[in-house]
Amino acid sequence: MKIGFIGLGNMGAPMAANLAKSGHTVTGFDLAAPCPEGVAKAETAAAAATGQDVVITMLPNGAILKSVAAEILPTMSKGAVLLDCSTVDVESARAVADDARALGVLAMDAPVSGGIGGAAAGTLTFMAGGTDEAFAIIKPLFDIMGQKAVHCGASGNGQAAKICNNMILGVTMIATCEAFALADKLGLEREKMFDVVSTSSGYSWSMNAYCPAPGVGPQSPADNDYKPGFAAELMLKDLRLSQQAAEAVDADTPMGERAAALYSSFVEDEDGKGMDFSAMLPRFEKRSRG
Ligand code: NAD
Repeated sequence: MKIGFIGLGNMGAPMAANLAKSGHTVTGFDLAAPCPEGVAKAETAAAAATGQDVVITMLPNGAILKSVAAEILPTMSKGAVLLDCSTVDVESARAVADDARALGVLAMDAPVSGGIGGAAAGTLTFMAGGTDEAFAIIKPLFDIMGQKAVHCGASGNGQAAKICNNMILGVTMIATCEAFALADKLGLEREKMFDVVSTSSGYSWSMNAYCPAPGVGPQSPADNDYKPGFAAELMLKDLRLSQQAAEAVDADTPMGERAAALYSSFVEDEDGKGMDFSAMLPRFEKRSRG
């Protein structure tokens, strides 16, 4: 396929490189980042999008996605697909899909899970929203960039799945960290705590696969001085998106709201910026109840 790729940052560059390696013709554009090996450089977003079968975007937020979409959609061929893999708000995803449809372009939102490591290894999970037709066209590309793609329904449903998943992740990471800090104060060894919880009803991905306690469980960012991994500020971004969505549809999400407030203090007022999101554990260790 002929593919345009806009947004060649930490995630976009390895995804574009994997597509090029598999024999697709990839033309890239980024305001700042260089093109990875095998990807031809375009001078503008519109130039990267013109005449392509598929245009993939991997951008920081919904406002930027909307401005890039406004520039590229009129240049795209009818029947081509705009595949947005960024994590953005549900409303922006649906607005871009509406604009695409009006111009005869197919749109699919497909945010990812798996981080920079998954992007490099081609093992991302995609959560896709859009038509069956768009999903069928994109499926071979999902198979190159990832290990799993779930078609979650209509446009915006991919973003809905992503922010609901990450709201659970933020809440369980906080619960796991505060429980470790409580266990410390109760004199319970961390290794014992892990042995019990990881095989009991308190288990979760945060405990079992990404344990926030250094030296306990499988290797995780805790074993690397809490270098990300998944940065606390990205978790804050996703929790804010979940709360923005909850407000828009009048959903009661008290734990998500509290998690957003805790990550906001951690990133903006404490020392969490640039740390992995599991660094909530040393944060709780430093604190007392009052
Ligand atoms: P990044 O900041 O490394 O990359 C974003 C790129 O977009 C940058 O290179 C920037 O120059 C470029 N850009 C910004 N505005 C642009 C414009 N108008 N035109 C062209 N290029 C523009 O971010 P990232 O880590 O690659 O994340 C990208 C998206 O993926 C985000 O929505 C993020 O939430 C999501 N995501 C990231 C991770 C992760 O672990 N990093 C995991 C899952 C999802």
